[in-house]
Order: sequence, then structure tokens, then C-alpha cells
Amino acid sequence: MKVFADLHIHSHHSSDGEWSVPRIFAQARRVGLEVFSISDHDTVAALEEAFTLAEDFPGEYLANVEISVRHQGVGLHLLAPLVDWHDRPLLDLLARIRLSRVRQNEIRVGRLHALGFDIHYHEVREALGPVPVTGPAIASVVLSKRANRNHALMDRIPAGSAHSPEIDFYKFFFLPGGAAYAAKETVSLSRAIATVRAAGGVPVLAHPGLKRDVVDEEWTRGARDLGLEGIEAYSSYHTEETCRYYVEVGRRLDLAVTSGSDFHGRLKPHVAFGDVPESPAEMLDRLKERRQRVAHG
Ligand SMILES: [Zn+2]
Ligand SMILES: [Zn+2]
Repeated sequence: MKVFADLHIHSHHSSDGEWSVPRIFAQARRVGLEVFSISDHDTVAALEEAFTLAEDFPGEYLANVEISVRHQGVGLHLLAPLVDWHDRPLLDLLARIRLSRVRQNEIRVGRLHALGFDIHYHEVREALGPVPVTGPAIASVVLSKRANRNHALMDRIPAGSAHSPEIDFYKFFFLPGGAAYAAKETVSLSRAIATVRAAGGVPVLAHPGLKRDVVDEEWTRGARDLGLEGIEAYSSYHTEETCRYYVEVGRRLDLAVTSGSDFHGRLKPHVAFGDVPESPAEMLDRLKERRQRVAHG
């Protein structure tokens, strides 16, 4: 018997998500999800509303969050199913990550201004309303002004394959080496794992296949030695072969295996709601066992 589970859905509280929490719950009912969680980037802002809606949800709803981390120079995402989302050190860690993103965007905008673009951070903030500021969002506000579109540097931007002026602008100015590049302060994988464990959550590596050239069995063994307890082997990004590979890695390293779509709405149109290759029937029991072990270890 299989279970239909998706532990990786983004709401509009994510920097790049689209759907509201009630819309996600309505769709979860419609498609018959049995176990699910909203895992927003570096915020638990959706969870209060989610747990209220979960009272009438026929399946099981789990607390979760997707934390942006770095390990040996590589950016990765860590999920935290079953975490206590009121835990103070966890909230502090998430706030710190969000603040580092705000600082990065302030510096990006300041650099553009110094280059002669007509742009201020408060304009970007106001233009976006409640939505978090991102690099492409800055680009779209800059490009909404005619004077900026005529800036001398605009001719130097190579047209990319994205067919999106915002993305071309983003790549030219904001990537390392770009004239408005700003580094972001990051949190280490080990620190995030320790924080999630201390908050009673199960640290799970998200979509390992996106970094498959780095995340092999040896790498994963190292992460497990830091306290990693699970791996999202079933991801909408993974081919069947990649799923099988990470299920096998998980089995050999004694990690819990989870499934997640990474649904974002229209910002990732290729990922459909509930689009998980498979979900292990025993997933929830495994996660709960891990949680016990984390709590008593
Ligand atoms: Zn992710
Ligand atoms: Zn995600």
C-alpha cells in the first residue's frame, strides 16, 4: 500500500511561491493528499493559518520549513518535517537568513543607483507590497522606468536564453562578477541541522538530485555524520533513475526517505501540485521514529 504524500509545497509566504494557504488546502483535498506540509523558504509564516485549516483536513498535516544553507561552498536546502515551529533558536536562525537576504538586496539596489540607474530600495519595497524582494523583482522595478531602459549599460547585457529581460538583467548585474553583485551571509549545514534537531524536527536534505555532481553517497555520509536524518529521494526534479539512486543511498545510510514536489505555482510551471514520483508507505512512521530518536539522542 502506498501513501500520497507531498512534504514540499510552497505558499506565497515563500520568496518565490504563489498560492495562499487556503488555496493549497483546497487543492490538497481535491487531489486527495493524505500527508502534506507547506515548506516555505526560511519562514514559518504560513503555519499558523495552516494548522487552523488542518483541524478539518482529513489527512495528516506536518509542520515544515525549507532552510537555505551552505556546505563546502555549495548552496543547499534543508527540510525540517515535524519541527517545533515556535522554537526560539529556530525562529532566530530563519530571521537571520531573511535579514541577510534583505541586506543583500539593499546593497544590490545601492550599487545600481551608484551606476546611475534611477532606483531606490524603498521604491522596490513599495512596488512589491507584501511579497519578499528578490533579484528578478528588483530587475523588473528597474526596467519599469523608461530612463533606466535607456541607460548606457543596458546595451552591454547579452540576450539570454530565458527570453526574459528581468532574468537577463539579473544575470548580468547580480551574479558573481556583475557590477551590482552582493554576497549573502549564509548559514552552515551543520548549524541548521543542529538547530532543527534541537527544535525536535527531522533534518532532511531537499531535492539532492539538483546537486547530483556533489551529493553522492560519500557526501551524504558526511552530512549524516553531522546529524542529517533523511533525504528527499522522491522529488519532481528527479528522474526514475535518480529516485532509485537516492532511495538506495538512504537505505545504505539508514536515512528516512521522503517525497516532495517543490510546487511553487506559476513561478515553476513545470512542477504540478502534488507531483511526486512516489511516496513510501512507511514514510510518516519513519519520520516519527526519527523524531523520537532526535528527542532522546
Ligand atoms: Zn529547494
Ligand atoms: Zn522548495
